[in-house]
Amino acid sequence: MRYVSTRGLAPILEFDEVLLAGLASDGGLYLPESWPHFDADDIRAMQGMSYAEMAVRVMMPFLGGCIDKDAFVSMVEDSYRNFTHSAVAPLKQLDSDIWLMELFHGPTLAFKDYPMQLLGRLFDHVLTCRGERVTIVGATSGDTGSAAIEACRDRDAIDIFILYPHGRVSEVQRRQMTTVPSANAHCIAVEGTFDDCQDLVKAMFADTQFRESARLSAVNSINWARIAAQIVYYFHAAVSIGAPDRPVSFAVPTGNFGNVFAAYAAKACGLPVDQLIIGTNSNDILTRFFETGTLAKGDVHQSISPSMDIQVSSNFERFMFDLYGRDGAALSTAMAQFRKDGTLSVGDNLHRSARETISAGRLNDTETMVEMKRQLTSTGELIDPHTAIGIAAGRAQMRQGGAPVVAQAAAHPAKFPDAVETATGVRPALPPHLADLLDHPEHFDVLPNDLDVIQAHVRQHISSRGAA
Ligand SMILES: *Cc1c(COP(=O)(O)O)cnc(C)c1O
Repeated sequence: MRYVSTRGLAPILEFDEVLLAGLASDGGLYLPESWPHFDADDIRAMQGMSYAEMAVRVMMPFLGGCIDKDAFVSMVEDSYRNFTHSAVAPLKQLDSDIWLMELFHGPTLAFKDYPMQLLGRLFDHVLTCRGERVTIVGATSGDTGSAAIEACRDRDAIDIFILYPHGRVSEVQRRQMTTVPSANAHCIAVEGTFDDCQDLVKAMFADTQFRESARLSAVNSINWARIAAQIVYYFHAAVSIGAPDRPVSFAVPTGNFGNVFAAYAAKACGLPVDQLIIGTNSNDILTRFFETGTLAKGDVHQSISPSMDIQVSSNFERFMFDLYGRDGAALSTAMAQFRKDGTLSVGDNLHRSARETISAGRLNDTETMVEMKRQLTSTGELIDPHTAIGIAAGRAQMRQGGAPVVAQAAAHPAKFPDAVETATGVRPALPPHLADLLDHPEHFDVLPNDLDVIQAHVRQHISSRGAA
């Protein structure tokens, strides 16, 4: 399988190279040149498979022969073996037509663990085979950082630097990153927003000299391998509910557009999906885009669903690439205009096509709290704010007579105890393996929103570990 950049100017690469590269050298994101196809018989053959078996089946075509199959099978088994639910991503029925796929059974309690546990092992495998090492830099609005650190900790071939907005992630989220005592894990609290962190990471990649000398790599959702690993849980849910004979819809709480893009990819690979629904918080640039056809950057507002406090969703470029008929040159021009003016209108035809593919809803903080309370009262489920946004958007956007909607429990409620307690009166407890999180010492550096300072910090810490 060959991978192309959304901007059309970077070299075409194989899976292992895409894994290590993260962002493409022309500033674009990698995508398969064409989607693998699973027909109805292929999907029927997945019925009864375990999560790990399905992960192997769904992901093999994306690896394109780059990774030895037996090695991949053990990586997948290792990745999901210690998840706290034997079904890995169990489904619960909330009402007659809404299901909840629980994605918080990994080590850091959010769906990010599902791709990231596998990504850490894939990196280690590929780097060890090549005798190379990398420096991973990533920006996090909260959950990616801890999942990435947990997946990369203590791996000799990797140094990992995570940038997060100082004071804008929940205490549990911060501590899940900063209490990891590994010498190869570095947390940087940036005096700025998540978008500032994301811009700093992009600027580090755009600095060719720095990128090459530090051997930068990314595990953000710009990394294709991460999206590929997320496609698995959409197949898993759909097959459990009756695919290929019965279609399903998915409702996805959305920030950087990585998670829902994996659902879009699952559909492109032949999974019978009726609607794709996104829910945003008051940082609703995407919802406004689907409503109006104009992508218009606003200011980032802090909300009770901080993992979605994002205005510029990096993975949206993958969706736009298909929307622009996979014309990298046209997309580059459009993205340059968006960067310059902060706004981009796609015109009536592309807007109609976008709306036919994705329905979008939004919830402000009050509406999110109402939904949390409502779920506790009507179903007994204690849910986190992101989860509430997905469920409520799914219910609001579901079409009459449409397929059942699979929403997702994107994070464990104990990651956001203050918001959950305010909304429901119940303070969620951390699961036993994290119960002593508040007692461990934290390690992080607070740095200004300044590229030079951050690059010097990264250089200094990789050289102090004796890396090349
Ligand atoms: C990361 C995250 C999101 C947003 O997902 P994207 O892939 O960035 O759209 C939503 N909810 C939770 C709990 C998350 O951790």
